[in-house]
Amino acid sequence: MKEGQQQIHTWEFRLSASPTQLWPYVSDTNRVFKKLGAPPVELTSLSRNTPKGSLDLTHNSLKSYVTWQEEPFAWETPYRYSVRRRYKLGFLEDLQFFIECIPTDQGTKLIAKIWLTPTNIIFSYVIKVYIDYILKRRFGKYLIKVEEAVSKEVKPYEVSKPRKLVRGADRKLKKITAELIEHSKRKRIVSKLINLIRYAEDEDLERIHPYALAEYWGEKKFSVLNVFLNATKLDLLDFSWDVCCPTCKSPQNNFKKLKKARIHLYCEECESDYTMDFNRNMHLVFRPHPLIRKIPDKKYCFGGPGNKPHRVIQQKLNISDERYPQLRLEVGTYILRTHNHEGHLKLHVREDGTDNVNIYITDEEFKGQEITISRNPNLSISNFSSKSTVCFIDKLNWKEEAIYASEVSSSIDFTQLFPNETLKETSKVKASEVTMLFTDLMNSTELYVKEGDESAIGRVMGHFKIIQQIVAEERGGIVKTIGDSVMAVFWEPVSALKAVQRMQQIFSNSSAVGDAFKLKAGIHFGDCTTVNLNGRIDYFGTTVNIASRLVDSASEKEIMVSEAVFNHPDVQLYLDKNSDTFFVKESLKELKGFDDEEFKVKQIRLERPPMRLVI
Ligand SMILES: [Zn+2]
Repeated sequence: MKEGQQQIHTWEFRLSASPTQLWPYVSDTNRVFKKLGAPPVELTSLSRNTPKGSLDLTHNSLKSYVTWQEEPFAWETPYRYSVRRRYKLGFLEDLQFFIECIPTDQGTKLIAKIWLTPTNIIFSYVIKVYIDYILKRRFGKYLIKVEEAVSKEVKPYEVSKPRKLVRGADRKLKKITAELIEHSKRKRIVSKLINLIRYAEDEDLERIHPYALAEYWGEKKFSVLNVFLNATKLDLLDFSWDVCCPTCKSPQNNFKKLKKARIHLYCEECESDYTMDFNRNMHLVFRPHPLIRKIPDKKYCFGGPGNKPHRVIQQKLNISDERYPQLRLEVGTYILRTHNHEGHLKLHVREDGTDNVNIYITDEEFKGQEITISRNPNLSISNFSSKSTVCFIDKLNWKEEAIYASEVSSSIDFTQLFPNETLKETSKVKASEVTMLFTDLMNSTELYVKEGDESAIGRVMGHFKIIQQIVAEERGGIVKTIGDSVMAVFWEPVSALKAVQRMQQIFSNSSAVGDAFKLKAGIHFGDCTTVNLNGRIDYFGTTVNIASRLVDSASEKEIMVSEAVFNHPDVQLYLDKNSDTFFVKESLKELKGFDDEEFKVKQIRLERPPMRLVI
């Protein structure tokens, strides 16, 4: 039979939205391929010689008919992406797909190109008609929906028809909604959540990140989390734990329960081992309860840019290839890596950074080099190494919207609603760079003597309630209380500082609480070990000991922070912004139990220390 000739199809669409507005939707290849009517795909292992980054794939409904090897996608956010498939079995030899968003005065000129070679001439005509009439129309329809949503500043599901729920779910939803409003007292968020479950597409609901929704809905993060946790208790939602690979950032392992979570894990994509880290790569994610809405576990694409939204570019470079990717970066920190190097290059992006940047990939390792570049640099990447490779640039703070295991597993809503959701008693889990806060009430003894037990107990309990509330609102959790002292954990240091600031303000200003409470605090951050102690999450290690010694050495109304906390970029930024409220004094302290070393600390106060009169 005669071999088919290569076909080239080009579609052009004029859209009013900008490339940046369109990108999240057109780069979401999992969704785009589904919209185009492609059957779901699954990974197979065709060959032991598949190059790193390439994928062996098949359509799971046509397993014995179509299989192909897919090269790594290449992309430049938010302008273009492409992929090439080489078929091992099926009616095509080869297929390439390319999308480009060109900014225009009116918005965007979107060009889609498909190159393909059919295996024989008979398929040729059918494929041509299918692509130019059916696929083009489907893609156009999708773009119209996206454009409508973008112009209304909503998500596409909000301008769509409701989806199919499980039989009998409507009745259940009514009852659950009423109970959820009663439990959470947050009617507005509940109704937004119900709409999400009714209208969103399957892809939106596979992994729901409540904090990302909170941002979009303009609601407080802790309120949205409270509704989601209550909704899980009522079987409207279900949750599980994603443990992401630190290199490719994808949720390579997911566990239904903390007790079932494994510590030593493997990433198929990076072909490397990694470990669970309670404060770095473990996130709580939600999806609808299967008795309300079933979300099929189907994937339509594994390697596209939408699967890695933190990755701004990915480029394949053969030996001596040179690329000039177009970049649009935000001020912040990015990491450049390749498939062949262990190390990385750090890119600091600043408005006044360098414009012309040449990066040479060689056989040598990256050795912690750092460069400062502008937001739209003229970048060239050259492969001078002896191997072809894939090079990519990732945003460093890639998951601010995620709920980390450390912050949520000690949070009051979580521990009250799911008291059994804790680690196995024998597990010891790493928690890197976790922030520990200790507070202490200095004058409780005095309070008991002055006011009598009954009144003092009430007031001290009230003080715990206020601390509990503030810690929850600042994305933290109370690990335990020890006498008049509270031990709390936060995902990042600035949250702990904000929390103490608010506590101090309430305790020194509110007339209801009075100025009777003399609270002091200590904050440190570093690596800890997370365990299950008596059925609750607890933390051990030097970081915890230092934080507890810091509070001991603090004076009345003082926040004693370690240098590590003080020098953290977010803390610095926060202190700078609030320089008229905070008074910082540097000093050296000998911490109890750490006799050998003098510890550099910063004493932070919210009010100026009283002036001493010299007569
Ligand atoms: Zn990985």
